[in-house]
Amino acid sequence: MVSAKTIQQEDKALKPTIAANIAAVQKQLSAHTTLIAVSKKQPMEKIAQALNARHRVFGENYVQEAADHWGTLKNQYTDLRLHLIGPLQTNKVKQAIELFDVIHTLDRPKLAEALAQALEKKLKKISCFIQVNTGEEPQKAGILPADLPAFYALCQKLHVPVVGLMCIPPIGEPAGLHFALLKTWVDRLGLTQLSMGMSDDWQQAVKAGATHIRLGTALFGARE
Ligand SMILES: *Cc1c(COP(=O)(O)O)cnc(C)c1O
Repeated sequence: MVSAKTIQQEDKALKPTIAANIAAVQKQLSAHTTLIAVSKKQPMEKIAQALNARHRVFGENYVQEAADHWGTLKNQYTDLRLHLIGPLQTNKVKQAIELFDVIHTLDRPKLAEALAQALEKKLKKISCFIQVNTGEEPQKAGILPADLPAFYALCQKLHVPVVGLMCIPPIGEPAGLHFALLKTWVDRLGLTQLSMGMSDDWQQAVKAGATHIRLGTALFGARE
């Protein structure tokens, strides 16, 4: 006779849970790489599953959606770390630094100035990644590689706490080349952190030295 428990276990084996997805990725990461679970456009029920699996590091693309997802939970889970991985408008900077611990999308001088101004008035510590347009795509945000030394110097002058570089490789190009380029620039600037790798290419990113990988669909399934 098949017990209810056996059926449940078989079900789980067929359909991996979010907890199992997180565990499977974590198993392949060293202590030097942080898994950011990208919860944009995911239902609260899936976010709750990740929290129940004791995951605490999440990424969001939009300030408003992040406030909806995390506004209340942030008080409940004091060890939560929220990463902004989507574009940031200067008029949302104040709200963003209240909600997020890390901003991955520092991509223009105006934003560096707005962050510097907002941080001056705040005691809260955040850290930032400069987004680099490694593919030099006209429609994509990010600092062009050639402009990085000057932009990083500006950030230092403004006391914006930059810890590393972030990139999103162009679709249809070998991601590995872009990860290697980003690694070269991190070393050249004397930085240490590399935010690179998404659901389709994170293993390559880890090989290239990623310290932060950003996974959505690989953990939670397709977005709404
Ligand atoms: C949405 C998004 C991700 C996650 O993408 P998946 O392919 O679902 O893993 C990672 N990084 C950025 C910048 C994103 O916008």
